[in-house]
Amino acid sequence: MPEATFTMIHQGFSYLLDPTPAQRALLASHTGASRFCHNFLLGVVLANWKENRDKKESGEEVTRESYLGTRQLDLQKLWYERRAESAPWFTDNASSTYNYAQLHLAQAFANYFAGRTRVPAFKSKGRSESFTLAGGSTRLVDSHHVRLSRIGDIKTYESMRKLYRHLERGRARILSVTVTERRGNYTLAFTAEMSRVIPAPRSPARVIGIDVGLTTLYTGATPDGTQVLSVANPRHYQSRQARLARAQRVASRRCGPRKGVAPSNRWRRANQRVQNVHADIANARRNLIHETTTMLAKNYDRIVVEDLNVKGMLKNHTLATHISDAAWGEFVRQLEYKATWYGSTVVRADRFFPSSKTCSSCGAVKAKLPLEIRTYHCETCGLTMDRDHNAAINLARCTSQPTSAGTRSVAGRGGEVRPKRRKLVVKAHPDEASTETLTLVGA
Ligand SMILES: [Zn+2]
Repeated sequence: MPEATFTMIHQGFSYLLDPTPAQRALLASHTGASRFCHNFLLGVVLANWKENRDKKESGEEVTRESYLGTRQLDLQKLWYERRAESAPWFTDNASSTYNYAQLHLAQAFANYFAGRTRVPAFKSKGRSESFTLAGGSTRLVDSHHVRLSRIGDIKTYESMRKLYRHLERGRARILSVTVTERRGNYTLAFTAEMSRVIPAPRSPARVIGIDVGLTTLYTGATPDGTQVLSVANPRHYQSRQARLARAQRVASRRCGPRKGVAPSNRWRRANQRVQNVHADIANARRNLIHETTTMLAKNYDRIVVEDLNVKGMLKNHTLATHISDAAWGEFVRQLEYKATWYGSTVVRADRFFPSSKTCSSCGAVKAKLPLEIRTYHCETCGLTMDRDHNAAINLARCTSQPTSAGTRSVAGRGGEVRPKRRKLVVKAHPDEASTETLTLVGA
């Protein structure tokens, strides 16, 4: 039996801030500075690209050296060269704000070059705005006050006691903190590096298979066939879609922001309502996923899930809204890191494991089973059962082995494998130079 181990993980903690009007002004100055830095550097790089394009068209030679670099250090250098002229007020804000704006822009460029996203976009004022500070520029004064450099001690609505205790006992270190303004509310999100006890993987006594469906969001069953989990699809998105469409229609009829023209107050209010619906949807979804995954990781030793090719499925547009609403990828992601915390094991069944098409009673496999057929009926043994329940039982009985104590796909054949996210380092802050991400302890 392997023993419990310690490992360093990155964990997020987020709290709602209660700033004074003076602090609000300072926070707004920082979000503005972060946006400016992003837009300014993006503008310089895009102008450089255009210049090179024009040169090429007129037959001039364009070498590799004609292009500005887009890595974080390149962007930082560019900022250092130009800030005195273009942003003489830059010293008003904490310096790491700019470092992170450059880092995030560099990541956006890296994603673009890797073919994962489109060209980085300019940030517009008044959407969800944020800035990030290095861990060294922040500390918790007590469980209800956070000190941000250049801004001061800001009160939080909720108690930060949990994080505060970890910090006090030297079990955690703040890597960075991101302040986000949404609809007039400021949220603070810490990324902390924590040493965490990883319990030894438990012997798989309690096994559950989880099937994701459209009518019933998550159906769970044990290998003996008992249905133990049924989370109805709240249709967060669909039910709020009418509300959202109405709000968006109203906003579209009002005078929104145009170049050089400030939006009308009536538009601001209408836009606020659109943002409220979006926030409602996001909160409800996040909450449901958190509750379900925590419950599963705490109560089961072996959790078998389908390894859905979410990206592939999203190409099917009729299903797309439902699948992305179900947020399956996020569900599995949370399940996997929570499993590591609680010592349980997540197994991703092979993408081609026919969990839906197999009869859980006699093992016969159907050639096909269209999605609209909600009941599984077996011609061989006569079993009639809810489609998702049948699939969950098959998953629970799936004998695939996890490749490590945490997660991993059992068979990675086919499909697109997402490249590892590259972690860039903020050079100006040596104490930040940790590239360690969540480490899984080998079995
Ligand atoms: Zn059968």
